[in-house]
Amino acid sequence: MDDKMQKIVSLCKRRGFVFPSSEIYGGFAAVYDLGPLGAELANNIKQQWWKSMVYLRDDIVGLDSAIFMHPKTWEASGHVSGFADPLVECKNCHSRLRADHLLEDIDVQADEKMSEEEIAEIFDKNKQKIKCPQCGKSDFTKLKKFNLLVKSNLGNFTEDWQKAPVYLRGETCQGIYLNYLNVLNSMRVKIPFGIAQIGKAFRNEITARQFVYRTREFEQMEMQYFCSPQTDMAEYEKLRQYRWQWYLDLGIKEENLKWHKHENLVFYAKEAYDIEYNFPFGFKELEGVHARGNYDLTQHSKFSGVELDYTDPETKEKYIPHIIESSAGVGRTFLALLSDAYSEENDRVVLKLKPSLAPYKVAVFPLLANKPELVAKAREVFETLKSEFVCVWDDRGNIGKRYYSQDEIGTPYCLTIDFDTLENDTLTLRDRDTAKQERVEIGELKALIREKLA
Ligand SMILES: [Zn+2]
Repeated sequence: MDDKMQKIVSLCKRRGFVFPSSEIYGGFAAVYDLGPLGAELANNIKQQWWKSMVYLRDDIVGLDSAIFMHPKTWEASGHVSGFADPLVECKNCHSRLRADHLLEDIDVQADEKMSEEEIAEIFDKNKQKIKCPQCGKSDFTKLKKFNLLVKSNLGNFTEDWQKAPVYLRGETCQGIYLNYLNVLNSMRVKIPFGIAQIGKAFRNEITARQFVYRTREFEQMEMQYFCSPQTDMAEYEKLRQYRWQWYLDLGIKEENLKWHKHENLVFYAKEAYDIEYNFPFGFKELEGVHARGNYDLTQHSKFSGVELDYTDPETKEKYIPHIIESSAGVGRTFLALLSDAYSEENDRVVLKLKPSLAPYKVAVFPLLANKPELVAKAREVFETLKSEFVCVWDDRGNIGKRYYSQDEIGTPYCLTIDFDTLENDTLTLRDRDTAKQERVEIGELKALIREKLA
């Protein structure tokens, strides 16, 4: 693993951002838990996404659909037959590997949209050059496609439930498509409009790698925008710019972002771009912004027998809405932010997260933990601030160590209550990025922090 990546993984564990799932049982592959600070960071990401995609838009509404859906959903969407990754097994060490990733590693283009035959042929042609990343041998089984949907027996009490499984959703957007008509009929929306939702999705990933980048249980932030056939591509360009700007607004450095255009489109797609981020392991997909034509609602109309046409109230034109989508991941944004914010300066590690994303906004310290009058005054400050800002209390060790500890988790402001505070009601405010300290009046503290966080 890359050196920087290793440092991020270690920081995440050490400081309560990310824990391996079920660690006391030896872990559970490709599943992670968010620790106390990770939960704060993820919540902040989701809040900012929701604000940008729902509250700041009068043309988009929110939704929270269930994880379980009628199994026909996944037949209509094509997931039951086509949602599969190409798998090979190393005959020497029995590692299961993704053939498209192995090809990618030797710069041969292949992707999951190719048929089993197509990708098997490319794989066979390049077999000699491909080495097992685990053991270095070059001896693989025949390539096979493996379906990614996770099955369950929900609501099925028979022994052979596998014959008619229900699925844990493989993506959140299907819940949006199924509620298109409900939203249209219950809300005062007209095309173009969007539906946004955040939620868990599940995929039987063959090889889960790169920490929280690719996991079997993950959280998506998706927005589907319903358009007329004439305007979808113009809306698509607007959405691309809007989503790009969101990452810049999170504080991600623009040089670490780039567009990747899909050359090999699925048959119904009109255009597809990904926003990629320069992770420690290279540029990889952060979000997909895709123009999907009218495929999704056409399929669900066909499989359900329910008419999903839209009639334009002015022109009376009738059509199946075209969809443009934005599909981002909480875990990927989380990792991109940590990677972008991680920096080492002299002898300190600083997580330069934008203050609005930082798990804690303010840390409050009494200069000395064994002076009751300092502790009481610091408690008073903490109590006044905590209803408005996420605050943390620390009275361990010396002030230098406390600063170091807060820098590492990205806390933008540290407040120290000392003997002067008892005399004149001022305290020291220390800035994470500059390490500069200023003397501030307690009465002006709230307004000042509010202004700094804005
Ligand atoms: Zn091997």
